[in-house]
Amino acid sequence: MIPMVNLKAQYAEIKDEVERGLAETIENCSFILGPNVQAFEKEAASYLGVKHAIGVASGTDALHLALIAEGIGAGDEVITTAFTFIATAEAIKYVGAIPVFVDIDPQTFNISPEAIEKAITPKTKAVMPVHLFGQPADMTKIAQLCEQHNLKLIEDCCQSFGASINGKQTGSIGHASGFSFFPSKNLGAFGDGGLVTTNSDESAAKIKQLRNHGSDVRYYHDVIGYNSRLDEMQAVILRAKLKRIDQYNQRRRHVGHLYSQLMADLPLTTPYEDGLGEHVYHQYTLLCDRRDEVLKALQDKQIGCAIYYPVPLHQQNVFKQECAGVSLPVTEAVAAKCFSLPICPYLEDDTIREIVAVIRGVLTA
Ligand SMILES: *Cc1c(COP(=O)(O)O)cnc(C)c1O
Repeated sequence: MIPMVNLKAQYAEIKDEVERGLAETIENCSFILGPNVQAFEKEAASYLGVKHAIGVASGTDALHLALIAEGIGAGDEVITTAFTFIATAEAIKYVGAIPVFVDIDPQTFNISPEAIEKAITPKTKAVMPVHLFGQPADMTKIAQLCEQHNLKLIEDCCQSFGASINGKQTGSIGHASGFSFFPSKNLGAFGDGGLVTTNSDESAAKIKQLRNHGSDVRYYHDVIGYNSRLDEMQAVILRAKLKRIDQYNQRRRHVGHLYSQLMADLPLTTPYEDGLGEHVYHQYTLLCDRRDEVLKALQDKQIGCAIYYPVPLHQQNVFKQECAGVSLPVTEAVAAKCFSLPICPYLEDDTIREIVAVIRGVLTA
């Protein structure tokens, strides 16, 4: 069996460090917003090149709190992509705003800056690009549009920890950004976790308050907040992995490139790197007209595979009605043909060859 992600192999490498840190935390009994959360926030801010990094309970919460802190609320339009995980749009709905789904670039699958520009109305308040599958969206153009039209730029970095564009980390460009530490992400915890980044002192102060019941001083509450703190135990694990994130992402890039090289002659479309930034291959996603046959052959051999994403958000039951008039031809075409292969820092070259051989068997038969 070849899993989509091999978390066991990663654990073997950091086991001693993690177990020491967890034991220490248990001994100290400082379970909520303790020294490891504080240290991780500092280390993450320094790595990402931002003034503030605030640990929260999940990536979904990170995006939600970022939107509140940037003043996005009822009736505001937020332009985003429909080719993403549901949480991108959920966060927008939580604040009472309206997700305006626009089409993607056919090669990178990231939100199209031209489509964003066309969708701007007097009600538009923010743009929320997703650095999908680990490849930065075209942030030069998107940031320029946001500045021209006085819009907030909120980055969904849940799949892009460590990816950079023009020498800047994703999550350091917009007004505020959200990261996820869901276990399978490039930087993953052993449970849920998330991070908001911002260079604004004011937004950072709001997010710190919001994650902790609207409170700066214990038992004094200024606003209605949430219980959304990054867990101290998760921070121990994240600190051990953050030290190694560049290594992990380099390995992911190697895996991605080897797959693409080995499949260059096959009738499918391997991931396109636009060269604007550095892709960190959260997923290795390709297009194939014979997707169903390929997936069946992989499943028969117990090789992990998945469709990210089979149904674009504007066509999901939850959005069908409010998006009745929305047509996104590129998104819909990509969703009909895309599939993803196993990828993680621990996928061996021989295993990659084995996976490709199965796909080759289907497509050259
Ligand atoms: C994983 C993910 C999220 C949500 O993160 P959670 O930590 O699971 O809440 C949001 N957006 C995208 C694009 C994601 O991949």
